[in-house]
Amino acid sequence: MPELYEYKRNTPVAEESYDVAVIGGGSAGICAAIAAAREGAKTLLIEDTGWLGGIGSTCAMVEFGPVYRAGLRVVGGVPQELMERMIAFGGAVRLGEEGSTMFAPETFAHVAMEMCLEAGVKLMLHSRFIDCILEGERISGILVDTKGGMFAIRSKVFLDSTGDGDVFFRAGLPFKMGRDADGAMQPMTLVFFVNNVNYAVYEAAVQRETGGKMIPFFEKLVAKAKADGNFHVPISRPGSVGVVPRYGRIHDPESCEVFVNSTNVVGKCGADAKDLTEAEIITRRQVYELYAFLKDYVPGFADCYLSHVPNAIGVRETRRLTGRYVLTAKDMVTGKRFCDTVAVGFNTIDVHQVAGEDFDLTDFAPGEYYSVPYRCLVTNELSNLIVAGRCISVDHEALGAVRVMVNTMPIAEGAGTAAAIAAKLSCDVRDVPVDMLQETLVKNGAVIGF
Ligand SMILES: Cc1cc2nc3c(=O)[nH]c(=O)nc-3n(C[C@H](O)[C@H](O)[C@H](O)COP(=O)(O)OP(=O)(O)OC[C@H]3O[C@@H](n4cnc5c(N)ncnc54)[C@H](O)[C@@H]3O)c2cc1C
Repeated sequence: MPELYEYKRNTPVAEESYDVAVIGGGSAGICAAIAAAREGAKTLLIEDTGWLGGIGSTCAMVEFGPVYRAGLRVVGGVPQELMERMIAFGGAVRLGEEGSTMFAPETFAHVAMEMCLEAGVKLMLHSRFIDCILEGERISGILVDTKGGMFAIRSKVFLDSTGDGDVFFRAGLPFKMGRDADGAMQPMTLVFFVNNVNYAVYEAAVQRETGGKMIPFFEKLVAKAKADGNFHVPISRPGSVGVVPRYGRIHDPESCEVFVNSTNVVGKCGADAKDLTEAEIITRRQVYELYAFLKDYVPGFADCYLSHVPNAIGVRETRRLTGRYVLTAKDMVTGKRFCDTVAVGFNTIDVHQVAGEDFDLTDFAPGEYYSVPYRCLVTNELSNLIVAGRCISVDHEALGAVRVMVNTMPIAEGAGTAAAIAAKLSCDVRDVPVDMLQETLVKNGAVIGF
């Protein structure tokens, strides 16, 4: 038994209480909060950083995956509106027939903030959830720490969209991390940006060398750099490389800013501060080796300069709730349908191998799609907690699909809508009438099946 300090303190309770308190303002928390507020719930959104977007802004992602295929559109409602408003705002562009959207991370944070405020969501930034106060089967309040001190907040329903499942973890609920066999998790990556890239030269080289295919193109270059002793990152090629549509900047293919998803750290846990610290140190060093690699080996990058390194490493995988139902990759590839579906998708199951180097990708053919049921968002233990985002109840492989934002956002719209209904009916979140939930989602433009 380690030495223990006993820590007791009287904590003030905030005067205002809420129908729905959403904890974590990433891709999931944003959509959950907007959905709840639009359904009339008095909604609070608590976020640790100074802006919204989570991994999508703080760790600086730039792409929402495909949403249309073979006549099926799998994203509607709040996330579709968010993407369209980001495009109209001028910091995002739609690509190709399948409707992927490239965006500037700060545009995501900004448009999300405006949409939350318009919906009537009360924002509480720079505020960190630290614990739950449990009364029987209910969370009666949560403890939040700020620069001004710690206080308690009451709400009818709490929604955990912290990515890491901080709320269900502190509540002592069951969860899993990593592969069933050994708990190993997908690697973490610190992305970075380089500017003044001649993308036209790069694309012409990819076309010439590998018929326009990025993967074999980079595999060859990385293999050469490894053979030269100039590449030590455990990866056979970047996860992705793409042009960033910065607000106010006209796209110039001969001098543009490029996102690089290529650092990689294996064997670390994204929910452990010691591991996270080591991961930051390793990947921040890797950024400079990769920058040199780009300049020396990749056509079009010779004159680039490092324009942005985010202030946090991107975490792909930590805690996954063990909820009422655990959605599996098998459910996804077999297209299992659920009577309480809240969202559908066809994004690739994208599991970055735990040892680094490569990726296990499972694609869905045109017309195929998977369904995500509400029962993955609720717990066996608590009557007023709903979970959204990458920490919902899925297995390690299914997380490879659920974690991408074209999935976290629609699922979270389902979570936020359910939270508002539970608050309105004063019912257990597990007893939210499914027909009412689905009718509301469809009325609001969400897609729950075909
Ligand atoms: C390198 C990398 C590349 C990726 N590329 C893509 C991509 O191209 N496209 C794509 O769609 N997805 C991509 N993903 C996955 C995707 O970005 C994330 O899985 C997704 O954004 C997770 O959203 P979330 O809302 O569940 O969690 P998060 O984005 O992690 O949001 C959680 C929020 O909660 C806040 N928070 C956490 N704990 C607390 C607390 N205790 N108190 C208060 N606030 C708290 C955090 O600050 C954060 O804002 C990538 C991920 C990585 C790591």
